[in-house]
Amino acid sequence: MSQQNPVFIPGPTNIPEEIRKAVDIGTLDHRSPAFARLFGPAVAGVRRVLRMDQGEVILLPSTGTGGWEAAITNTLSPGDTVLAARFGMFSHRWIDMCQRHGLIVQIIDAPWGQGAPLAAIGQALRADTGRQIKAVLATHNETATGVRSDIAGIRAAMGDHPALLMVDGVSSIGSMPFDMAGWGVDIAVAGSQKGFMLPAGLAILGVSPKALAAMDTATLPRCFFDFRDMLRTYAAGGYPYTPPVGLIAGLARSIEMLEDEGLEAVFARHHRLAEGVRRAVAAWGMRPCAVSPDLYSDTVTAVVVPDGCNGTDLVQLAAEKYRVAFGVGLGEVAGKVFRIGHLGMLTDVMMLSGLACAEMCMADLGWPVELGSGVAVAQEFYRGGGR
Ligand code: PLP
Repeated sequence: MSQQNPVFIPGPTNIPEEIRKAVDIGTLDHRSPAFARLFGPAVAGVRRVLRMDQGEVILLPSTGTGGWEAAITNTLSPGDTVLAARFGMFSHRWIDMCQRHGLIVQIIDAPWGQGAPLAAIGQALRADTGRQIKAVLATHNETATGVRSDIAGIRAAMGDHPALLMVDGVSSIGSMPFDMAGWGVDIAVAGSQKGFMLPAGLAILGVSPKALAAMDTATLPRCFFDFRDMLRTYAAGGYPYTPPVGLIAGLARSIEMLEDEGLEAVFARHHRLAEGVRRAVAAWGMRPCAVSPDLYSDTVTAVVVPDGCNGTDLVQLAAEKYRVAFGVGLGEVAGKVFRIGHLGMLTDVMMLSGLACAEMCMADLGWPVELGSGVAVAQEFYRGGGR
């Protein structure tokens, strides 16, 4: 029965029964009109979730990492310069991918726990009078530290610089407000296994007209992820190769579920769940890795553990003894934090079980935490409807 426990990792997330059923479809010919009937609503739904007013949606058989690769290879050329802030494992990995593709990355390092530094980004772009920087990369929600960055602020800091703005929304899209059109995002990258509550296997991208135009001059090698092949076949109601039809059917169902709840209500639920977790963390005498409330993520909290404690011990114990999954600390914060994912198919009551389990582990490990202390404040908060 331990398989029935929800997971509290920041993706892959728990999968609703409705979505499991939607994914479990019989074989269908992707060259037949039946595929177009599945594909159309999924693409139209993504457009609404991303809040796109123009441009194209691209669905790739991949994951978020493949989405990063598709974003850069379709729009950039070897030797191009990109500007990126690094303040956690995922911002680091996208930078590493750019470097491995022969791009020059102008890196702005910020302490882990901080967000993308707007002033430094603005300054770097103003100093780029030769317009060498072709793209600004931004990690909306740094899953390693539980930090949300201000994407509208980055766009404002870019001023009239013509660089593309590429945003990793893998652990935010579908769970936290995201406004591709309003924020002026050129490429947004999401993955199926987080806010969309699907199994892993789809990279989901929104691409602006400006980014689409960059495809014509971009010379980084690409084939499987070439947007041009995608768009040509989409126009004919098809796909350039065999599509993961089950995931695409599941995506349409996922968006129906999100919209039945109401996207604003989904975001409010995530905020409430997150706030309950943060109150529990404070009751334990601990703090989030994110250094200030404006940076708090509503999808994941990286909890800084007391001196002398190791966050990885808690994660291992939870997995072995209680069969519950929390996230380990990654990179610079390995051992110093453990992560509580609070996104996707979760309710107040499920969240309380996660907090209770974390407390049991802390007690087992002899950490200085009173059983029930965090659960009690979260109960009060959820009981009051999150007010
Ligand atoms: N970006 C962020 C912010 C992530 O959290 C993740 C995965 O957790 C990725 C990118 C990589 O996505 P994937 O594991 O789907 O390739």
